[in-house]
Amino acid sequence: MMVIMSRDATDEQIETVVRRIESAGYAAHVLAGATRTAIAVTGNRDPLDPALVDALPGVVETFRITRPFRLATRDARSEDTVFTVGDVTIGGRDLVIVAGPCAVESREQLFDSAEQAKAAGVHLLRGGAYKPRTSPYSFQGLGEEGMKLLAEVRDRTGMPVVSEVVDEESVALAAKYVDVVQIGARNMQNYILLKRAARTGKPVLLKRGVAATLEEFLGAAEYILAEGNSRVILCERGVRTFSDFTRNTLDLSIVPVIKALSHLPIITDPSHASGRRDLVLPLARASIAAGADGVMVEVHTEPARALSDGFQSLYPPQLVEMMRELGQMAPVLGRRLPRRP
Ligand code: PEP
Ligand code: MN
Repeated sequence: MMVIMSRDATDEQIETVVRRIESAGYAAHVLAGATRTAIAVTGNRDPLDPALVDALPGVVETFRITRPFRLATRDARSEDTVFTVGDVTIGGRDLVIVAGPCAVESREQLFDSAEQAKAAGVHLLRGGAYKPRTSPYSFQGLGEEGMKLLAEVRDRTGMPVVSEVVDEESVALAAKYVDVVQIGARNMQNYILLKRAARTGKPVLLKRGVAATLEEFLGAAEYILAEGNSRVILCERGVRTFSDFTRNTLDLSIVPVIKALSHLPIITDPSHASGRRDLVLPLARASIAAGADGVMVEVHTEPARALSDGFQSLYPPQLVEMMRELGQMAPVLGRRLPRRP
């Protein structure tokens, strides 16, 4: 809580406020300004009742300064969160590349994509089994069959798999079949789902909503952390703006802002951010340059025949090129692009 004193508050009045705060068991920090004095109160776990000091002489107003998210910020933990999924490190010095098709379409398509991704050096394989599509007539994903195929391809290739959950049923399946549970942009503020996903105990890849503010984004992460699951990967996937030549606008500035505010790893998704294959590589480069801990991109063996997001899916050779370029950039930025064992 912050206590603002009137311009003509006396030293004695300020001292009385400080004593009142301290006798209640909190710390008071007197911040003398050019025209008036403010007193910051810390040491409280829960929001303070302003009545503590409201009526004391010289007090003009009080307001809360406690952020609604505590666990997600560096106030709670100053060092970066680093964890592993299988043999892949997320956060810290290592960059992580997540790639794969938008959707799991068939066994053949998934296995081919996985082989290509693995050969390119990708760390985590992505693939949606539950697809939240704009049109109810578009391909909705293979559901449980898709999740099972992901588990099979993980066992075959050794690459941990990431897949989106949309409801209780898919959360239960993801808990059984996948390594990282993805919360899509449309569900970033589905708080019940966030809690359910957190309770799987698996790392959660949390995508930013298309119109989510910084505070809402971290607030969503807070829901997962508050369930006792500390393995959260934030993902900036573009926000909605007036700009009409791309699907969304990659909000790159949120990357360094999150890195300063939060200890959680953050990656970007240049595929959904741009909706354009030709922009994926430049935006991936820019993301890493801005301090992102990795990128997630879509790739398809035959983008023209993809059942979803073909326009933004890389051809496999483009993925190879992206890995090569990010690998070259990494050391310049003090990062490492680990090779798959
Ligand atoms: C996805 O990554 O498959 C996806 C649907 O992305 P988003 O939730 O960011 O739209
Ligand atoms: Mn997609």
